[in-house]
Amino acid sequence: MINVDPVELQKFSELAHHWWDPHSEFKPLHDINPLRLGYIDRIAGLKGKRVLDVGCGGGLLSEAMSAAGARVTGIDVGDKPLKVAQMHLLESGLKVEYRKITVEELAEEQPREYDVITCMEMLEHVPDPASVINACARLVKPGGRCFFSTINRNPKSYLFAILGAEYVLNLLPRGTHDYARFITPAELAGYCRRAELQTEHLIGMSYNPLTKIYSLTADTSVNYILSAQSI
Ligand code: SAH
Repeated sequence: MINVDPVELQKFSELAHHWWDPHSEFKPLHDINPLRLGYIDRIAGLKGKRVLDVGCGGGLLSEAMSAAGARVTGIDVGDKPLKVAQMHLLESGLKVEYRKITVEELAEEQPREYDVITCMEMLEHVPDPASVINACARLVKPGGRCFFSTINRNPKSYLFAILGAEYVLNLLPRGTHDYARFITPAELAGYCRRAELQTEHLIGMSYNPLTKIYSLTADTSVNYILSAQSI
């Protein structure tokens, strides 16, 4: 069975042509991009590293990591986001290798090839997140790092990530996120542990609706990034 939800893919496909418009539905991804790039670079040091971006979409983080000096491969299973990502390279002049393949399939092909793996805002859109984490654990070199970002599951995250973002502030289209698929940091750390990835750090990404500014914080109650190292 392939670990892909066609309904989820359809949502991103319909919006994909807006991906690089910072005022579109993808504004939140544009806003958090420099924050997550800085975080990953601080912990993993991207320059010269072989990096895999899983569920790369239109390539916001893939390009940013390439600009920071990494050799980046981006994979996704959505045709439209990948096409947008590929086209955007013409505009940016950056180099990223984009491929349409599942992370599980790539793990068969390229075990232990990557220094750094990023999998951002994707786990909450797949049927079996543990399978994605297992595949990442197989793709990363011993001592390499994986970064996973997703949305926590609790009343506050329901209020902020669904009611607030989709219904009150209209930051995201309604139906973007499914509460049942949100993942707590303890669950994510558990998936990592079972895949022999050691959780090393956890950081929150918070949105202040008054200033409209995102920041990295100790508050992991809504959006967060977990970094884990291959043992
Ligand atoms: N990681 C990017 C895009 C996040 S949007 C960023 O943070 O900027 C989620 C992406 O996950 C979409 O591009 C969607 O096509 C992709 N996706 C969903 N299910 C997937 C799967 N099973 N395998 C690979 N990509 C998937």
